[in-house]
Amino acid sequence: MAELKGARVGIMGGTFDPIHYGHLAAAEAAREAFFLDRIIFVPAGIPPHKNEKEVTPARHRFLMTLLAVMSNPYFEVSRVDLDRGGVTYTVDTLRDLRKELGPDTEMYFITGADAILEILSWKDPRKVLSMAEFIAVTRPGYGLDKLAAALGPLYQEFQDRIHILEVPPMGISSTDIRRRLAEGRSVRYLVPETVFTYITNQGLYGVKGER
Ligand code: NAP
Repeated sequence: MAELKGARVGIMGGTFDPIHYGHLAAAEAAREAFFLDRIIFVPAGIPPHKNEKEVTPARHRFLMTLLAVMSNPYFEVSRVDLDRGGVTYTVDTLRDLRKELGPDTEMYFITGADAILEILSWKDPRKVLSMAEFIAVTRPGYGLDKLAAALGPLYQEFQDRIHILEVPPMGISSTDIRRRLAEGRSVRYLVPETVFTYITNQGLYGVKGER
C-alpha cells in the first residue's frame, strides 16, 4: 500500500545473524534524528560477500528480527529480500520497496558505517545511491573520515545523500554474539529476551540447553 505523501521511512538493512540491541538502538536513534515515521527492518537473503552456508537460515533470522521489533510500534519487518531469494543486492531491495511504498515516500537506508564504506563494491553503486538517502551508523572506534576515499568519484555527487549517525557506544556485534554462544557464554542483555529464548529453544549457533 502506498504511503501518505511525504512519509519518511527508514529501511534497516542487515544480515541480522542475530539481531541485537546495537541494531535496535541504532534504528531508534535514526528514527529520532531523521524524524522518520517508521522503520522497516529488512533481513538480507544471502549477502553477496558471504557463502550460503556461512549464514543462519533465513527463516530463523526473519523470526528473530520479528521477535526483536514486536514491542516497538514504529518498527516492522519486511520479507522483500527473503521472498526474492538468492543473493541480496541493495539495488533490488530499494527497487522493490519503492514499488510498495510509492513514489512520494522518502526512503532512508540505514546500515553500519563499515558496510557503507564498501559501497563501491556493491552492484550498481551509482544507482543505489540515487535511489535513497543513506544513514551510516558509526560503531565505537570507527571514524568516517574514510568516506571520501571509499566513495572515490561518487563522493562529490552523493555526499549530501549520506548522513553519518553516531550512536552511543554499545560495542555489540553479531560476530561477537555468535562467538560467545559457540563458547557456551551468555548473551543475555545483548539481545532481547525473546531472541535469547528463540536461540536457546532452536539450538542456534551451537547452543545446547539453557544459558
Ligand atoms: P556486514 O558486512 O555483515 O556488516 C558490516 C558491519 O555493519 C558489521 O559490523 C555489522 O554489525 C554492521 N551492520 C550491518 N547492518 C547494520 C545495521 N542495519 N545497523 C547497524 N549496524 C549494522 O553487512 P551486512 O549485514 O551483510 O549488510 C548490511 C546491508 O548492506 C544489508 O542490507 C545488505 O544487503 C547490504 N549490502 C549490499 C550489498 C550489495 O548490494 N552488493 C553488499 C553488501 C551489503 P553486525 O555484524 O553486528 O550486524
